[in-house]
Amino acid sequence: MFCPFCDAQDTKVIDSRLVAGGEQIRRRRQCIECSERYTTFEVAELVMPKIIKRDQTREPFNEDKLTSGLARALEKRPVSIEDIDKAISKIKSELRATGEREVSSELIGELIMNALKKLDKVAYVRFASVYRSFEDVKEFGEEIAKLSDE
Ligand SMILES: [Zn+2]
Repeated sequence: MFCPFCDAQDTKVIDSRLVAGGEQIRRRRQCIECSERYTTFEVAELVMPKIIKRDQTREPFNEDKLTSGLARALEKRPVSIEDIDKAISKIKSELRATGEREVSSELIGELIMNALKKLDKVAYVRFASVYRSFEDVKEFGEEIAKLSDE
């Protein structure tokens, strides 16, 4: 990057270290022209993909929606806030890891179901029954049977 003091185009890195628990890199730089020193921080760009809804419209990722969806499924279930927070972080990193700028709402639904399956089977069935809108009792029963097989 250009030197912020003299706009020279060449700087050298004189020190580089991890900060903020390893989530940032702090670099001390020195301008080769004017010898001024300054610090830069490097962080991962954490952009969430947009969500493509069933009707093909797009909306920004909404963490509150994700949280309330999980909370609804987990209502009165013996699952700690910490575990729910972990599940939310995991879903968010899975979404980022797709590297896509847009992902389908179905993908989020699948990620939520996978997370709930590990957290609490009852919550999983609750969510799945709404999300997949099971056609009849038989289909619902099959899903539960699958769970007890695992
Ligand atoms: Zn300079």
